[in-house]
Amino acid sequence: MTKLPRAVRQLIEKFERLPGVGPKSAQRLVFYMLHNPEGELQDFANKIVALKRDTVMCTECHNVAESDPCEICGDPTRDVSVLCVVEQPLDVLAIERSSKFQGKYHVLHGSIAPLNNIGPDQLYLYDILKRLNGVKELILATNPTMEGEATALFIVEMIKQQPALSDIVITRIGHGLPIGADIEYADGVTLARALEGRRKMGE
Ligand SMILES: [Zn+2]
Repeated sequence: MTKLPRAVRQLIEKFERLPGVGPKSAQRLVFYMLHNPEGELQDFANKIVALKRDTVMCTECHNVAESDPCEICGDPTRDVSVLCVVEQPLDVLAIERSSKFQGKYHVLHGSIAPLNNIGPDQLYLYDILKRLNGVKELILATNPTMEGEATALFIVEMIKQQPALSDIVITRIGHGLPIGADIEYADGVTLARALEGRRKMGE
């Protein structure tokens, strides 16, 4: 039996590990690339290398950015009394598109998902507590999914255990967002409405 060249097989394996790419599409992608000029592929490879090299994680909000602190954390005109917790960097982008939010963000990089072995320790959950100095409202904008709800409830419980933080109003984004939706895919208008219709939690 003839085998595919090693370089082809190895790249197929890499593509297969990407989310949403099955073995068939991995093969198709690799053979598509094989038909590209070498310079084009070199450029592609360089951009993959640059992905990590030229980005940093903001030590304040954990958003992916070009500088630390990121543009939003470093912006003195942002309202420091409102903190919005999201699951992913793309959620920040989506909420910024709504132009309805002037506060700051906290990016968890996921949600509590016991079935996938993701617990609070795998997320930037506990350091929310360090960011609540001067915060009057904490908006929980995790996805309206089972995992997102569980994460929001975890944060409410975590804050309840800190008597010093009892003055902080905790709200949950939601109104207008379909159940099971992903915030990162919501359009600006829907998100603006979801932000306006946020409700109090933890009472
Ligand atoms: Zn930041």
